[in-house]
Amino acid sequence: MVGRASGKNRLHRDVLREMLESTASATAPETGVDESALLELERSFRGEIVCPGDPAYNEQRKIWNGSIDRYPAVIARCAGVADVTAALRFARQTGLLVAVRGGGHSFPGLSVCDGGIVIDLGPMKGIRVDPDTRTARAQAGVLLGELDRETQAFGMAVPAGIVTHTGLAGLTLGGGIGWLMRKHGLTIDQLLAVDLVTADGELVRASETENTDLFWGVRGGGGNFGIVTEFEFRLNPVGPIVVAGPIFWPMEESPQVLRFYRDWIADVPDELTTIVIHRRAPAQPWVPSELHGAHVVGIGCCYAGPVEDGERVVAPLRKFGSPLLDLCAPKPFTQHQAMFDPSLPHGWHYYFRSCDVAELTDEVIDITVDHSLRMKSPVNTFPIFQLGGAIARVGEDETAFGGRGAGHTFNINATSVTSEGFEEEREWSRALWSALEPHHTSVYVNFLMEEGEERIRQAYGPAKYDRLKALKRRYDPDNLFRLNQNITP
Ligand SMILES: Cc1cc2nc3c(=O)[nH]c(=O)nc-3n(C[C@H](O)[C@H](O)[C@H](O)COP(=O)(O)OP(=O)(O)OC[C@H]3O[C@@H](n4cnc5c(N)ncnc54)[C@H](O)[C@@H]3O)c2cc1C
Repeated sequence: MVGRASGKNRLHRDVLREMLESTASATAPETGVDESALLELERSFRGEIVCPGDPAYNEQRKIWNGSIDRYPAVIARCAGVADVTAALRFARQTGLLVAVRGGGHSFPGLSVCDGGIVIDLGPMKGIRVDPDTRTARAQAGVLLGELDRETQAFGMAVPAGIVTHTGLAGLTLGGGIGWLMRKHGLTIDQLLAVDLVTADGELVRASETENTDLFWGVRGGGGNFGIVTEFEFRLNPVGPIVVAGPIFWPMEESPQVLRFYRDWIADVPDELTTIVIHRRAPAQPWVPSELHGAHVVGIGCCYAGPVEDGERVVAPLRKFGSPLLDLCAPKPFTQHQAMFDPSLPHGWHYYFRSCDVAELTDEVIDITVDHSLRMKSPVNTFPIFQLGGAIARVGEDETAFGGRGAGHTFNINATSVTSEGFEEEREWSRALWSALEPHHTSVYVNFLMEEGEERIRQAYGPAKYDRLKALKRRYDPDNLFRLNQNITP
């Protein structure tokens, strides 16, 4: 910030020094913070520099996962590309560890660090929709719901994730799965170009015709190659009214429900994407009070096509057995997109294990139901995403994303409201994941915790992993961008 009082800066430095000393055993910066460099950064910065001791510090160091509690030395809340390059220059100059934050939804908390700098793109919220060319540009701080709000004003959408407060940036760079994917592909399948600041501070554009190797890598390779400041997407018509929503049965009936589901989805059209949920029914207004806390299995649907077709396609599912609750109906797409928001709020404690499987065999179903029935937490939401359709029609080597041929993605979510009971939930998640191990095929990189290099290699497969390594050596040989699912140079 221009013209900070020197007394305030002194306060920052003192608090920072104390903080760094008290967290000496945590991930430490490679060097201390150079005060003159920080003052220089503050002088030129258009956004906001937040340091320990600032009133905003505690709020700004928080990310979505409340089990992550880290203390960066500097949070650079960027207002534009010039701020991003200035923050990067400062990081190189001082040797501080760099974390990059879009929406702050990294499961393992890789967008915040102890003692380093958080380059926070959050304030960069620009969105421009061009209905004539059916394209949209979105800056790196945009959240999914904000993009939907603008694109749905024209009856269009970018396929993205299922919770509106997720960051577009991190989601896109890992691939992006959600309700529209079987019809319109992954988020990266509609990506036309990115503006990216490289480790040495150069702004480049990558697309099918410019820096094509980089464009291949950013479509699944995460934040390994630089900081994306803006995305450009192709838009497709969606809704605004779609047939969508979940249908619930008692979890004890899940073995039959999932066997029926498996056979039914074998030939549903690509317009339909479904997600299976095992959970305890939440105490939310749309759930009758007698069901609160009951173990249920739900199948969420979203039909990205005409309402009459959607109603016809989902009819057999709605007729199966005796559902406890049927919320599948025509509704605004944006309403459906927000369905999971209350189940995954900021600040709770979250842990995940994830894997892809080829199909829901009898054994996969039985393991899943057996473990789900033992779920204790009243707030776990455990989704199984149905893949296929448009995702599988893009060649496995066309983008860095791995696992296009998988049938389903398991996201075994362990949640507790506070740290109380969290370890027990984590054990539950690990046990289910381990029981499924013989059936694992691949893993979605955005659903990894910090699980080590071998798991990252599994996410891409060995050949693509080697190609990504070569790209990393070219764009970030010093591994400045290492707080991510890191591809070491
Ligand atoms: C509640 C919730 C729901 C989710 N639902 C889905 C879903 O439906 N589908 C799906 O595919 N994924 C989903 N995810 C996973 C999500 O894709 C990842 O957590 C993703 O990293 C979130 O992006 P973000 O910008 O919010 O994260 P951040 O924590 O800000 O960033 C995560 C990582 O991305 C990189 N990064 C972020 N911004 C940039 C940038 N501008 N330039 C370069 N690198 C950057 C950094 O390496 C950073 O460590 C969900 C996550 C949560 C928490």
